[in-house]
Amino acid sequence: MAKKKETSTEEELSADDLRIVKKKKTTKKKTTKKSSSKKTTKKEKSTKKTTKKSTSKTTKKKTTSKKIEKTDFIQSSCNVGLVGHVDHGKTTLVKALSGTWTEKYSDEINRGITIKLGYAEAAIAQCPNPNCNLVIAESVANNLRKSKKDQKGMCPNCGTKLNFKRRISFVDAPGHEILMATMLSGASLMDGALLLIAANEVCPQPQTREHLAALGIAKIENIIIVQNKIDSISKEKAIEHYNQIKEFVKGTIAENAPIIPTSAIFNSNIDIVSQKIEELIPSPELDDESDFLFNIARSFDVNRPGSEIESIHGGVIGGSIITGKINMGEEIEIRPGYRSKEGKYSSIITTIESIYEGSNSLSSANPGGLIAIGTKLDPSLTRSDQLIGNVAGKPGTLPEVQYTVEIEAHLLKEVLGAEEKIPVTPILKNELIMIVVGTSLSAGVVEKIGKKNTITLKLKRPICALDGSIVALSRRIKNRFRLIGYGYLIVSE
Ligand code: GDP
Ligand code: ZN
Repeated sequence: MAKKKETSTEEELSADDLRIVKKKKTTKKKTTKKSSSKKTTKKEKSTKKTTKKSTSKTTKKKTTSKKIEKTDFIQSSCNVGLVGHVDHGKTTLVKALSGTWTEKYSDEINRGITIKLGYAEAAIAQCPNPNCNLVIAESVANNLRKSKKDQKGMCPNCGTKLNFKRRISFVDAPGHEILMATMLSGASLMDGALLLIAANEVCPQPQTREHLAALGIAKIENIIIVQNKIDSISKEKAIEHYNQIKEFVKGTIAENAPIIPTSAIFNSNIDIVSQKIEELIPSPELDDESDFLFNIARSFDVNRPGSEIESIHGGVIGGSIITGKINMGEEIEIRPGYRSKEGKYSSIITTIESIYEGSNSLSSANPGGLIAIGTKLDPSLTRSDQLIGNVAGKPGTLPEVQYTVEIEAHLLKEVLGAEEKIPVTPILKNELIMIVVGTSLSAGVVEKIGKKNTITLKLKRPICALDGSIVALSRRIKNRFRLIGYGYLIVSE
């Protein structure tokens, strides 16, 4: 009987609930001695590195000011998440902030990669005029031009040519409640978030509440609240709604977040949003001395049916670099990797043939926005997101594949995403728990409940993740997986 149930879960897990998000620094650590000493070393290293880097010409530091030139492409240094209830305008806002730049480039394959990744980014620019100093997203400035014939890349205030400041990329979090666990896991890797709240609906809507809770759990503190669709209500209603938002965020991680009224569809106040992003969501320090670690959030085959053999491109994996750096031509290992008919996994080794951020080709990449890596793999191995949830690293550096995991679990008081209040009861032996770690989704039966809230799960699908990785925990309640808590992975070496 148990067997049958397991199969249905497996099917459910492999469905489209893997519309995964993004990554960054996994090691939000447990407070063991070992981990804190590790952390110090990392910090020391990065300090050392920063000193060294400041003298190097190729440094891509966030403070560098450069002219906006397409040929001098600088990778995004920051991931900004978009969260909020479905239809509140996340996609529209991303479009307003990032422009329709993907259409400007002609190469069909590159554009295909961009679209498949759901990738969007914005170049943040600053006006060099000392009396102005306006900070604005480049495409927002372009949208504010009086006429389409006016030159692009100019300050909308004073007309001076803008300087490039940094590039940020957007993480469009899934809005559906069933994807909460995924959102949470992705949220832990956002450097900051825009919480969209539509002004023509009562606040909070269910997913507004859930997503804010997830930001709290993942400790994403750099939050900007966007009160969108302001065009659709009266001034009085807008003020009333603003007060609802204020009341709603009281006592939460977003208590002091600014609330910016916008109309994403009419491009109004989008410049303020871009300024606030610059002000409140800084790029994290680069850490390219650690081992290269890449979380695979998408995988695909970019070839069109019937392509000539000579023009076939190898399999493409998309995702974000968590730590380290990767160069073109290097070898990578992918884990857990291939699944044999018997259900055993073996890692895949391949070579990097191309690296893209959006439509831009890179020769090397650091942690930052979503990137696509072209490999020598047979594209049938990467088709249709088959490699989602895998990680890539330099051969021999990845953690062991884990079929059984130990997790330090922290339960919420109430189930998130339910209409009624459902208290979270303790996790029981033999119960089925769904987990999300990085981009990897699995489920397992509780084999053991240990001391200090630890649980041991025997997984249906193995994972490959670092000690201390944040894990979202869900259980089946009324035929649906609901988020009940989070935890930290304990990997004994
Ligand atoms: P998402 O589900 O949060 O990504 O929402 P979308 O961006 O897809 O927007 C949902 C609907 O709201 C679309 O029909 C948009 O055109 C519309 N919409 C988005 N922003 C605004 C806005 O500022 N004002 C109005 N009136 N409609 C908007
Ligand atoms: Zn200016």
